[in-house]
Amino acid sequence: MKAALLEQFEQPLNVTQVDDPVVPSDGVVIDVSVCGVCRSDWHGWKGTNHVISLPHIPGHEFAGVVVAVGKDCKRIKVGDRVTAPVIMGCGHCATCRNGHLTICDDQYVVGFSGWGAFAERVAVPFADANVVVLPDSISDEVAAALGCRTTTAFAAVVDKAQVKAGEALAVHGCGGVGLSAILIGAAVGATVIAVDVVDEKLALAKQIGATHVINAAKEPDVASAIRDLTGGGAQASIEALGVTETFHNSLKCLAKLGRHVQIGQPLDVHANPSIPLLDTIYYRQLVMMGSRGLPAHRFSALFNLLSTGRMDMQSLIKTRISLSQVTDVFRQMNNHEDVGMTLITDLG
Ligand SMILES: [Zn+2]
Ligand SMILES: [Zn+2]
Repeated sequence: MKAALLEQFEQPLNVTQVDDPVVPSDGVVIDVSVCGVCRSDWHGWKGTNHVISLPHIPGHEFAGVVVAVGKDCKRIKVGDRVTAPVIMGCGHCATCRNGHLTICDDQYVVGFSGWGAFAERVAVPFADANVVVLPDSISDEVAAALGCRTTTAFAAVVDKAQVKAGEALAVHGCGGVGLSAILIGAAVGATVIAVDVVDEKLALAKQIGATHVINAAKEPDVASAIRDLTGGGAQASIEALGVTETFHNSLKCLAKLGRHVQIGQPLDVHANPSIPLLDTIYYRQLVMMGSRGLPAHRFSALFNLLSTGRMDMQSLIKTRISLSQVTDVFRQMNNHEDVGMTLITDLG
């Protein structure tokens, strides 16, 4: 099959022929029709995600049709049109049985733990617990665009922060997952304040439902600006970059009893930031949560929100490319110039 092979970090991906994936006994092989290009793929390309061993095929935001089913997989059939969460729990351990598949000790992260979907076909294990059969109302493009970002954002906004209509939600960082959090926050009826340093991203944030936007490059005190805008602070705040400064802003912009959700992945120098503990967590009695991925059994709740028509996923999709153009997208991401989602729609 054709695939985009990462052979050396930060070097162009080699679009070449590789062996077809072998179907895992408890898994499936999927003929990929669409795959999103995500910032976490870029982290993998940069070499900052230490799980990846070379050569590697990135790609974890996919949709397609099942072409092979392992002997121990009972629920999924050849011909099913499917997607899958980026983090796949084993389905058997106590954590998974309690519904928390994204924190399973034996989790498989497609496109990181093993080869991903920048290819004509991708294999995934633990299919019964993870593969999501798509309803007719969800196209392959929308399923791929939900990817890890909109599913992660849904878990953060709806399941973790439990944002309600009329509350103020601050979103720090308008990359893929940040824009998705804005879309979902607006869909549940929150007042959404979007923060970024790129005017183009803020314009898109406004277009998809942000009530206020703040350019952090021009605003010296983002947290105060948000507290002023909201009359005392946001009820919930999402850090969607994984950067220490925005993490601090997220804590400081909250109202008393506010909920911070960390969905940006804090790598390298951002892995162990200081915490402004006294004036935030302690005096304002804040709640701080992490969120990563969305288990397969919560996808139907996300599909229900989509069916209300209050989330326009199409407005997030900005660019459609072929496999050979992925490296160009990664280079744009170096400068954080990528706006909206890029989907690989030509994998052959
Ligand atoms: Zn498990
Ligand atoms: Zn992703």
